Amino acid sequence: MADLRQLLKDRFGFDGFRPSQEEVCAAVAEGRDVLLVMPTGAGKSLCYQLPGIARGGTTLVISPLLALIDDQVSKLRSMGFRAEQIHSGRSREDSRGACIRYLQGELDFLFIAPERLGVRGFPEMLQRRRPVLIAVDEAHCISQWGHDFRPDYRRLGERLAGLRPVPLIALTATATPLVQGDILRQLAIPDARRFIQGFRRTNIAIQVHEVSPSGRGQACRTLLAGEGKIPAIVYAPTRKGAEEIATTLKGSFRAAAYHAGMTPEARDDVQTRFLEGRLDVIVATIAFGMGIDKANVRTVVHAGLSGSVEGYYQEIGRAGRDGLPSSAILLHSFADQKTHDFFFERDYPEAEVLRKIFKAAAKVPVPLEEIRKKAGKLDPETFEKALEKLWIHGGVTVDPEENVALGDAGWQRTYEEQRAHRAEAVQQMMSFTRSADCRMLFFLKHFGDHGDRRGPCGSCDVCRGADAELTRALSERERGIATQVLAGLSGTTGVSAGKLFEGIAGASRRDYEAMLDVLARAKWLQIRQESFEKGTETISYRKVALTGLGERIGARDVADLRVAAALWLAEGDESEPGRRKKRKTRKAPTKAARKNAPAADMPELSSRSSNEIAERLKAWRLAKARERGVPAFRIFGDRVLHALAEYRPSSLDELLEVRGLGPKLRDKYGVELLACLR
Ligand code: ADP
Ligand code: MG
Repeated sequence: MADLRQLLKDRFGFDGFRPSQEEVCAAVAEGRDVLLVMPTGAGKSLCYQLPGIARGGTTLVISPLLALIDDQVSKLRSMGFRAEQIHSGRSREDSRGACIRYLQGELDFLFIAPERLGVRGFPEMLQRRRPVLIAVDEAHCISQWGHDFRPDYRRLGERLAGLRPVPLIALTATATPLVQGDILRQLAIPDARRFIQGFRRTNIAIQVHEVSPSGRGQACRTLLAGEGKIPAIVYAPTRKGAEEIATTLKGSFRAAAYHAGMTPEARDDVQTRFLEGRLDVIVATIAFGMGIDKANVRTVVHAGLSGSVEGYYQEIGRAGRDGLPSSAILLHSFADQKTHDFFFERDYPEAEVLRKIFKAAAKVPVPLEEIRKKAGKLDPETFEKALEKLWIHGGVTVDPEENVALGDAGWQRTYEEQRAHRAEAVQQMMSFTRSADCRMLFFLKHFGDHGDRRGPCGSCDVCRGADAELTRALSERERGIATQVLAGLSGTTGVSAGKLFEGIAGASRRDYEAMLDVLARAKWLQIRQESFEKGTETISYRKVALTGLGERIGARDVADLRVAAALWLAEGDESEPGRRKKRKTRKAPTKAARKNAPAADMPELSSRSSNEIAERLKAWRLAKARERGVPAFRIFGDRVLHALAEYRPSSLDELLEVRGLGPKLRDKYGVELLACLR
């Protein structure tokens, strides 16, 4: 250990290890296989560089991005190390030179892109003089669940097999426990020590607010007006959104949009002004990965729900790099889920679509156009996506001239898994917004950072509760909803969310769900996912129950309740009477209906009716499918079916609130569906 510390000082010029680097370095230097998950900027590179030097020989580094490789090589060279790179961006001459230096033992580090291991003769070349350590950077790319999944990364395990037992360290900033397990499996390092650490950010206060898309520009303006809130980055879901928010902000701040639709010159100009402090707010699209490294960003706002917790965490990490107090603010609403649904359907076609292409392919390669014809009617965009996914999962091979040949039938399982994982990612982000626990603890749990035993962060909106910024008292209408919810639960051991809703007057389903969140956050009630068996089926539902605190709360106390997310219900609130009229609210059940209703604490009854509705919908769908001569899923998927049964919309507008149900489906089947639901 003393040696490592000495090397750290002598060769890397650092005074000491950062927390958690030392133990990792020791394990790697010792020759253990390691999986290291630490956030960006935590100092992962040192964890292979230092042990590599300590082991005395060449460290082989596999990294997916050529730009990153370039960067690392020049940085290492400037520190006096002998580093080389081999990838498709270099001339044959240069690559040969690098190989020769490697074979002569003249290199401390050899960087390659993963594709290189697929080049004939290259792994054999490496075997002639083995490295002392293999580092796989950005290792999440190897997982079939990772968003950057690449075929060459998937084969890494088998291609590296010839170099083993050389110790291997896999590094990534973003891997959930599920992906971590996948990385270990793919790389065939089941006994690797896992170091998952450093995810707590102590200087970022997280707030989550429910705001409709149209109100987000204004919300940004309010939220950024506070003391010490700028410089700020605002992430917008679309270019148009970025432009609109920037326009709104321009009245109060020096603000500008930044997205792929602008010329590179215009973008550079915006970026430079922001970096130099001549702009207060930059409004960028999330899709356009912005490489802004500015230490004093005080606030990161997301004007829309992120697609995954990993992505969200990564992006808020741009706040407070200087260690000073900063904020991360998430603005979201029900509408965001539909945006994500849209992208999901577009980017992850159903496996059935891929299967058509798979079936159209043969052992002998044929031009892509032939496959297109054979695969039947698919719109060009869908065909393209499906072909790409099929290729990624090995179902077909596509050569540079775009000839397609049959690949491996195993694509189906990995594709379906990836698809399910992507759908789940948005759901996790939704759970994050609904969490009644500390936001930071949510992250630690999400990444599996179990070593961190410190408690709640104390600065997020959940921790601060009523103290949180921008809280306000409930409106009269909101108080009415809260009172009814509490009354409906009083004297019960819990009620299913669907059943409870039936007894609430004057609230849309959405307002009701939002109120459940508010009450859960105030710790007045708790919501648990429960299930029961019915025949061969497992039926799950959310059970809502009062907490001890909730039981002691009287109707009077409701007046004291504050909404931590200040802008909640903004859309349906009294302040906007015009909008409110349009909203559909449920009529109060008559007294007789209430009396005849089954006991409130019997969730099964409500769930059963949901199931019955689902059965009716299924029958309707089947009839429709037969009539049109298509498979039932082409009418709509099971996900939509069950959402319909659960939410039971009662108007054409409300249909659109169902996840996965868009205007197309509404226009085509809306009237019939409503009749069926009734
Ligand atoms: P990661 O790969 O985890 O995103 P890097 O390895 O690129 O992070 O490191 C981020 C920065 O931290 C680099 O500039 C690096 O030089 C610096 N760094 C790493 N370890 C130390 C240390 N022990 N002391 C000081 N600076 C460090
Ligand atoms: Mg790195």
